[in-house]
Amino acid sequence: MADEVSRALSAKPGGDTIFGKIIRKEIPANIIYEDDQCIAFHDVAPQAPTHFLVVPKNPITQISKVEDADKELLGHLMVVAKKCADQIGLPKGYRLVLNEGPDGGQSVYHIHIHVLGGRQMGWPPG
Ligand code: AMP
Repeated sequence: MADEVSRALSAKPGGDTIFGKIIRKEIPANIIYEDDQCIAFHDVAPQAPTHFLVVPKNPITQISKVEDADKELLGHLMVVAKKCADQIGLPKGYRLVLNEGPDGGQSVYHIHIHVLGGRQMGWPPG
């Protein structure tokens, strides 16, 4: 079983996460962008030549828990993802991914958008 799958199967929602520590600057990250609502940083285990994460500072655990009141924040995350991709330079395209729960392969229960680029993506995803 791939490492990321076994991590996803053992991960549990609830409590602080590694992303909370990054947001509070308790551990380092390669930060691309930050504002009062979110932070974007490079993934520590990149699955493509470019792989970064856009993470809200509000620690919503996962997409299945979002509410109507989160609409604006979720839209903001997508706009930030696009702006960071522009800044890095991914003219041939990129993919946004949001993993939900064990079947979706979620290993960190603090909602985040993956942005992957710099290579041809396959379909369907694994
Ligand atoms: P997911 O499996 O969708 O929950 O994604 C979690 C992602 O967080 C994975 O791609 C990990 O490689 C990444 N990750 C875990 N710890 C760190 C860290 N300290 N800095 C950057 N990315 C991390």
